[in-house]
Amino acid sequence: MLTTVSNSDFKMSRIVQGMMRLNNWGMNIDELENFILETIDLGVTSFDHADIYGGNHLCESIFGEVLKKNKYIRNKIQIITKCDIRYNHNSNALVRKYYDTSKEYIINTVEKSLKSLNTDYIDLFLIHRPDLLMNPDEIAEAFYELHKSGKVLYFGVSNFTPQQFKTLQSRLNIKLITNQIEISPYSLEHFYNENVYFLMEEQINPMAWSPLAGGKLLNPDDDKSERINKALKMVAKDINIDELDIIIFSWLLSHPLGIFPISGSGKINRLKNAVKALDVKLNKEQWYAIYTASLGYNVP
Ligand code: NAP
Repeated sequence: MLTTVSNSDFKMSRIVQGMMRLNNWGMNIDELENFILETIDLGVTSFDHADIYGGNHLCESIFGEVLKKNKYIRNKIQIITKCDIRYNHNSNALVRKYYDTSKEYIINTVEKSLKSLNTDYIDLFLIHRPDLLMNPDEIAEAFYELHKSGKVLYFGVSNFTPQQFKTLQSRLNIKLITNQIEISPYSLEHFYNENVYFLMEEQINPMAWSPLAGGKLLNPDDDKSERINKALKMVAKDINIDELDIIIFSWLLSHPLGIFPISGSGKINRLKNAVKALDVKLNKEQWYAIYTASLGYNVP
């Protein structure tokens, strides 16, 4: 399932395992080790982290415990992580949350991630969110140092608009190989802000976060998710597949952009459904039925 990303030398599994909810899975280290091994057996070898994931930001270090315990795993997987979201936990702080893409902060945070994850290198490092105070030249210096030292192999961004992407890329000698964005039948924003067409033109494969809208498409809780859920059931019947999550992943995978969906479930059977979706191709009518349900009206 390893797939070349954006015509670069980097390969990631087409389905990526997200680690943001790891703290909610209630797994001890042995159970997490088993989960990771089962995930690798399925061909899902890429794991998406961020420095801030988990209560007390512990997801990276819990994962790192497994890498320390089982030395077999590191060479079999690709680790993606991100930074720039800073939290102030002090109640007297001026602001609870802000972004920091200074060279010093990026380098220090990557050093911390390496330590937490018990690894010498990050396969793919992303700027988590566009920083209004971003200085592309400073980011370029940080990326260059991290790359030169072998601490980070590849770089990308997350939640960037086309212009933000172009601005940062214009100062880098290193190619940004992905933009990790929210795309699902529930979240269509990037079809409207030109990102999808920009990425296609640049031949950049995006990663899609919250592909199931955080589970909402399976357990609808508003009119829009109800409509989409109904359409998913109709498409599922049309192609004789029972599991709606297969249809959702295949909606993403069927798009010509070459999206890498990030599954957020901690249940191996649900990840298996994401993998099964690789063999399901929706036709245009089925794809548009889901899209139209999300819009709530027919296309013009
Ligand atoms: P998701 O796959 O849309 O949602 C996962 C949630 O849906 C889990 O709580 C899961 O519960 C539930 N779920 C899955 N299948 C279900 C089913 N059949 N029925 C009911 N509930 C179901 O993805 P996500 O966790 O929101 O995001 C995925 C990853 O994207 C994250 O782990 C993170 O790596 C990344 N992310 C990135 C950003 C960014 O800004 N770059 C933002 C958010 C997330 P169970 O665990 O019980 O199955």
